[in-house]
Amino acid sequence: MTLERMRMKRRSPRRREEISKIDVYLIMPCIELCSSVTMLFRILSFVQLWLGVFWLLSYIPGAVASGLNERPFPDIPFKEFSDFIRLNFNSEISLSSVLVILLSLTENVQLLGLHGRQQRKRYKGERSTPVTAWIRVLANSLRQKLESDDTPILNDVTDGGRNEQVTIAIALKLDAMTELLNLQPYNRAGKFITKQKPVSHKAIEPIHIICPNTLVCKTKDCNPHSLVMITKPRDIPYVTLVKNFRIYEDVPVLAGHCSRCKTTYYADHERSPSSSVLGEADRVYLNSAKYLKIGQSIWVDRAFSSAVLSGVYNFHASAASYTEFWNSSFLVSQSSVVGKLSRRHIWQAFVQESIRMVGALSDTNLTLGDNLPVDEVTKEAFHILGERGVILAADGHTCKECTHRYRHSDDDPIQGKSEDEEDEDDMGAYVQMAVVDGIVMGHSICAYPDCTSELSNARGGVYCALHEDAYGGQCHVSNCTNAKVETTLACQAHQEKWQRFQKYHRTRQLSGYRRAQRRSDDSWPWMAEIQRANNQPHDQDIVLNNEGRRDCFIPSRTYCVETICAPCGVVVAWAKFSKSESPTNILNFLEQVYPTEDSRPSYICIDKACLVLRTCVNNGSWTGIWEETSRFIVDSYHYTNHSSEDNLCRRFCNPTPRDGSDPNLVVKERDRYGQTYYRNAFNTQACEQLNAWLGGFESILRRMTAGNFNWFLHTMLTYHTTHVRQRIAKHMEYRSDSSSEDSSG
Ligand SMILES: [Zn+2]
Ligand SMILES: [Zn+2]
Ligand SMILES: [Zn+2]
Ligand SMILES: [Zn+2]
Ligand SMILES: [Zn+2]
Repeated sequence: MTLERMRMKRRSPRRREEISKIDVYLIMPCIELCSSVTMLFRILSFVQLWLGVFWLLSYIPGAVASGLNERPFPDIPFKEFSDFIRLNFNSEISLSSVLVILLSLTENVQLLGLHGRQQRKRYKGERSTPVTAWIRVLANSLRQKLESDDTPILNDVTDGGRNEQVTIAIALKLDAMTELLNLQPYNRAGKFITKQKPVSHKAIEPIHIICPNTLVCKTKDCNPHSLVMITKPRDIPYVTLVKNFRIYEDVPVLAGHCSRCKTTYYADHERSPSSSVLGEADRVYLNSAKYLKIGQSIWVDRAFSSAVLSGVYNFHASAASYTEFWNSSFLVSQSSVVGKLSRRHIWQAFVQESIRMVGALSDTNLTLGDNLPVDEVTKEAFHILGERGVILAADGHTCKECTHRYRHSDDDPIQGKSEDEEDEDDMGAYVQMAVVDGIVMGHSICAYPDCTSELSNARGGVYCALHEDAYGGQCHVSNCTNAKVETTLACQAHQEKWQRFQKYHRTRQLSGYRRAQRRSDDSWPWMAEIQRANNQPHDQDIVLNNEGRRDCFIPSRTYCVETICAPCGVVVAWAKFSKSESPTNILNFLEQVYPTEDSRPSYICIDKACLVLRTCVNNGSWTGIWEETSRFIVDSYHYTNHSSEDNLCRRFCNPTPRDGSDPNLVVKERDRYGQTYYRNAFNTQACEQLNAWLGGFESILRRMTAGNFNWFLHTMLTYHTTHVRQRIAKHMEYRSDSSSEDSSG
């Protein structure tokens, strides 16, 4: 009632004008009759009345909870509601159908308003329509949804009833129900309300409780032992839960315990006595978890954590920018003061979700020591699940783009092998290609020449623990052994050098910051051309990193990330080269990724394949390993720059031999003028394309510790590969769909 009156006060400007005109006529005689004193008294009491209404309003829980932009959920006794349903609808109607009808009405108050207004004629030219087109659409939609299971909504309408009549009958019932629920646009006094407020559904939100995701103990020799609740009632933590991108407060978190094997079950992990260290506990990260804990008192569902992974992948977003995105979009749409997240929360969600994603590929629930800090978790996760950089998501992949049927001559038709194709004649031979390329990108490492260890202090340190101990107290200028001046990194004699360095470094950081904001793949029309992050010469032979005796004022960096991918874009593996992209490093990487003869691809495409081949022949691994299975070829983009005098390169590494010497690398085709031309059988640019994308993460990766760097990169490449495979599968499906349509039509 009070709310209704509130709403009456807010009219559209035009209506207010009309009404004030009427008021003038009403008030006029008043002024004549009453003295000005009584008039003032009237105004005062009117104001007082409204103040009282506001005061009252603040004590109505419904009105406060739902906020002034929503109206409370209809509050009628259940008996009244059930009597209405029994009288008006089919006696066989299901609970779900009744709930659908109820919620469809509370969800569509605006439509009910339009219907209600059109029902009553008020102005010239209007017609009263008992069943308007508005409500008929609602009735029709409900029928489509609810009558699919052959139970009609109404009792008295048989199959004989005409379709339109049934809809009208249902519309009339909906109209009656609108009145029962007090959802029509008129107040008790019959006055029309122009602005319909949406109905708050907060009052009918269910209770959420976070509890273990298993019913019985999972330990092998426990039989299915039941779990008792181990959380003492007074110790139950009440947390904030983000579920379906909505915030729920005061959600209790419960844990279960098996008295036999002493394992405690939480919603996202298990904790059991350590199998290796007495008195310690192990934590098993359950891949099946429904909810994940990402902060002291914040839990999220998997939809949230998957969105974090997807957002980081698709937008090249850092944890900080994703945090900003969440707090300023989803959060502000909900009138909640809790649920504001920090960068730590988002990073935790990323780590927790990625552990499950990567773990699920090998069917492994990651087991670590309990209560590790998050930096240790990523380090251990890569150690256990990282497969030394081999991407498990690519396992067993073949497709038409990366795998072709072996051709004996130019005249054999080229045929790809699809992933889902049944192998009727698997005896036939196939050729596969792998593309190898590097991108300059790395994390900080010890500044001491030739040391590749992690920094002992990731924030501001320059040496690993060992070298910090030995040289941390000395001047950091090369070949100087004087003691350094406190709070600087140089001795008294080298202070000027130190100051100069600091000044230079600060300006460089600033320009670096500007560059980081404009990522390499940003190419908006209003932006000037910018250099791509991977344009640095990763294929130069040796990095002059610590040669020429560099001063150790800042940490060194690992040099590059090398990737192997298939021509279709599926990533096979990655590795980090600390100092250089040398042919030896590449060969070692290839040997590690392709340990057996069966696993080796027929062609390995590298921009400096001739160098690799030379090294390979010289160190004996050509005859020992590769000769039987593989050929090293230069990618077609770089081949034009290779020396035409280099016979080995021309003879063995040509990506498009036109003399018919390798019919599996080139396809002879005719253009529309009948001219013959040669096309590459494989996309040899796949890795460069991959690295251009990967370059977008450079600004995020360069600030990471070694452990986070490894895990983040591994996660993103795994995610990417899963995506590429899904895209290929979808493309195949589409192609087979359209080809079957072609044949039928
Ligand atoms: Zn047990
Ligand atoms: Zn493929
Ligand atoms: Zn070191
Ligand atoms: Zn010095
Ligand atoms: Zn060459």
